[in-house]
Amino acid sequence: MSEPHSIPSFDLKRNYARVEEEIKDAVLRVMSSTHFILGPEVSEFEREAAAYLEACRAVSCASGTDALILGLMAVGIKPGDEVITTPFSFFATASCITRLGAKPVFADVEPDSYNISMEGAHAAITPRTRAFIPVHLFGQMCRLEDISDTLKENDIALVEDCAQAFGAHRQVGSRMARAGTLGEFGCFSFFPTKNLGAYGDAGMVACSSDSIAERLLRLRVHGASSTYLHEEVGINSRLDAIQASVLRVRLRHIETWTEERREIARRYDMLFAESGLQDVITVPVEIAGNRHTYHQYVVKAKNRDELQKYLAAQGITTRVYYPLPLHLQPCFSYLGYKRGDFPVSEKLCDEVLALPIFPELTADEQERVAGGIAKFYGR
Ligand SMILES: *Cc1c(COP(=O)(O)O)cnc(C)c1O
Repeated sequence: MSEPHSIPSFDLKRNYARVEEEIKDAVLRVMSSTHFILGPEVSEFEREAAAYLEACRAVSCASGTDALILGLMAVGIKPGDEVITTPFSFFATASCITRLGAKPVFADVEPDSYNISMEGAHAAITPRTRAFIPVHLFGQMCRLEDISDTLKENDIALVEDCAQAFGAHRQVGSRMARAGTLGEFGCFSFFPTKNLGAYGDAGMVACSSDSIAERLLRLRVHGASSTYLHEEVGINSRLDAIQASVLRVRLRHIETWTEERREIARRYDMLFAESGLQDVITVPVEIAGNRHTYHQYVVKAKNRDELQKYLAAQGITTRVYYPLPLHLQPCFSYLGYKRGDFPVSEKLCDEVLALPIFPELTADEQERVAGGIAKFYGR
């Protein structure tokens, strides 16, 4: 009897096979140009990405983490400032705040969308609040329309963490709100496994005006306005041309791949609905008006750890995003938070399980994943 093949949580090789020739052409073009850092390839990518996102401008940088740091630097965040964000996210969402000497102030998430609660964020505002970093977690946008007026009234900068939400949007009234364009800065990561991934580290800040873009262009090259003239102290965070050339190829396919992810999500929804697992598996909710890009398909599962082990034994890889909320990370203990402060986030950390999802995942593989889960619960 032959063993069924294993199912990874993502598979970049299958994706590469679809674009191999285009990528090789693009990378070789850069190699022969010998223009490796910034330059025309990078500017073209920034233009194309800004057009896709419907952002005024886009300024690329070396990673999503740097995009957040650059955004906060451009806001002018300094020691003593407070920045409100979610405790249920990747580490960089909070570390960018402490890197600038400011204080992260957390507000709990909503149990349905896993996104930061706008009511909670409201309640966390103090006279020291200078910025708000909502995370469009797993590819679905936050309900930012519920807080945008308050932010403006209180002069609080909106820095969206869009690392997982390239191409997500949300219908607000008659308007289509696109992730990364609602506030001053939209920070993107092109880490290889993100929906739009480079073949190395890469990031970008979408911004709302030319003057903000000019400031970011300086900050990413040591604060230099021209060669060896420094208006302020920035950082060294540039995109290299090879990554830009890869991103330009992959950007041309992102709509197709996003639709494929959405179709995969609908098939999972259907498989779980048919298997009658509603008492033990809660599927992710797409909030009305949202275009969820399904960077991850994250269920809440009873006996999560046991289920994960059971699936692993059958060659099915799943992941836990995130096992420990940010307010309980040892490096942030000085902030004085304790277990029980954000019960929704803490509970999610014990329950969430990200199932395999990538554009090339097959229907057969999805059936094996759902079948394995049903079997674990004895159905
Ligand atoms: C990936 C990610 C980041 C950081 O991006 P890098 O490119 O890895 O530095 C920040 N925030 C969130 C929510 C992420 O998922």
